[in-house]
Amino acid sequence: MENADVIVIGSGQGGVPLAADLAKEGRRVVLFERDALGGSCINYGCTPSKAFLAAAHAAGRARKAQNLGIHAQVRVDFPAVMERVRGIRHSFNQGTSKRLTDAGVKVVCAEATFTGDFTVTGGDVTVKSPLIIINTGTSSQTPPISGLADTPYLTNRNFFDLQELPPRSVVIGGGYIGLELGQGLARLGSQVQIIVRGDRLLDREEAEVSETLAEALKQDGIQVHFQTNIEQVRYENGIFALKLDNTQQLQSEALLVATGRKPNTKALQASTSGIELDAQGYVKIDDRFQTTCEGVYAIGDVARQPAFTHVSWEDYRRLKAILCGENRTRSDRVLGYATYTEPQVGRVGMTLQQAQQQGINAHAVTLPMAHIARAIEWGHDLGFYRMVVDRDTDKILGATLVGYETAELVHVFISLMEAGATWQLLEKSVHIHPTYGEALPSLARLLMGENMPTCPNM
Ligand SMILES: Cc1cc2nc3c(=O)[nH]c(=O)nc-3n(C[C@H](O)[C@H](O)[C@H](O)COP(=O)(O)OP(=O)(O)OC[C@H]3O[C@@H](n4cnc5c(N)ncnc54)[C@H](O)[C@@H]3O)c2cc1C
Repeated sequence: MENADVIVIGSGQGGVPLAADLAKEGRRVVLFERDALGGSCINYGCTPSKAFLAAAHAAGRARKAQNLGIHAQVRVDFPAVMERVRGIRHSFNQGTSKRLTDAGVKVVCAEATFTGDFTVTGGDVTVKSPLIIINTGTSSQTPPISGLADTPYLTNRNFFDLQELPPRSVVIGGGYIGLELGQGLARLGSQVQIIVRGDRLLDREEAEVSETLAEALKQDGIQVHFQTNIEQVRYENGIFALKLDNTQQLQSEALLVATGRKPNTKALQASTSGIELDAQGYVKIDDRFQTTCEGVYAIGDVARQPAFTHVSWEDYRRLKAILCGENRTRSDRVLGYATYTEPQVGRVGMTLQQAQQQGINAHAVTLPMAHIARAIEWGHDLGFYRMVVDRDTDKILGATLVGYETAELVHVFISLMEAGATWQLLEKSVHIHPTYGEALPSLARLLMGENMPTCPNM
């Protein structure tokens, strides 16, 4: 048995910098990781998916350039696309390893389990420490479909190991992972069908977001089957055969399952140390990241924090401040996120419905992309910008931006909301013409009740 000052379980987006910082301060830090260093984001999530989409959207944009009078012949070298994806992943993974080693963190490549009070065992290493941080993330959830478990289906875990482009692909799930990877496959040349249990895509967003994305996917030749369940899956001679509950049968060379996430807590056996989990298996934490066991903290996805890399990373910054005696909490932040389909969905804060459900006297204004000069000029006129404000205080409560590269533009709102700004501040900002950003003061001007032009040329 070894003694340490800190144990970190999982090399996720918060755990790695926290381990490195604490080790650099001279503390003895042991980090357990059962898989690739760097967690989901680097190895099976953000990094490979966005590198994959860079290629897919390049192909999609080249094809769509015919709307501008440019006719390109697109030839996709899929093995080269995936080599590049894996190359970037490898370099980020190596960077994580170097960061931990340089900081003096002892990395144990094994699955960690609580084996006693403040004691963790992984492989043949057992460590005791007064401070333990759980950062074990989530894994993809497999739906209970008859026959599925016996087939070589894909999840985000093995998707990026693909060597050849599947001629036909079926994606189960209409959340952001299914849509990003499904649209990516289609733009690279696969014939894609998406199966959705409910009646819309991205069903946590507003209905207009779902409708806009459904139109975008249709333009990419993707067929979406709404309100559809799969009764059975079989796999024979390299072909998946799916029996749907509407009597339809589908066949494909690839089947991607993207139906949700489950917390990585089973192996931890956390209850042996008095660490309580919620009904879905996520680690329960208070507003200062502490679990039900004093001295044991949890950050990132496994603690049911909004499941994004920037949240896990921000958890690390806040927990570090708390450990240094600062009075920080986890819940006082403005949450933004994005879906990297084309068009993108940039989101921050509350929707109108969410604000009204909280009893806020809220109001929303919407500007279609087709009213924005830059969007018309560049041929990206599918989508809209929407802002939600509090009528009583004039403060900006949230924004939904569906359009070209809106994951970038939404930061304007993130900063304004962090500053507690009112819509009048946005209204008086003079933005550059012709830009997408120019439409944001125009959006605010809609609150003045005037039929204002959106830019000098409109
Ligand atoms: C396809 C996909 C695309 C995504 N795209 C984005 C995006 O564009 N932007 C964004 O912000 N987020 C994105 N995410 C989400 C993002 O990846 C996660 O929110 C992020 O990785 C934060 O995770 P984490 O720090 O909680 O832990 P993770 O990154 O999940 O890391 C947890 C680590 O703990 C290890 N582990 C688990 N159990 C044990 C154990 N018992 N012992 C030892 N090690 C253990 C795991 O192997 C893993 O390495 C995406 C996710 C997926 C799946």
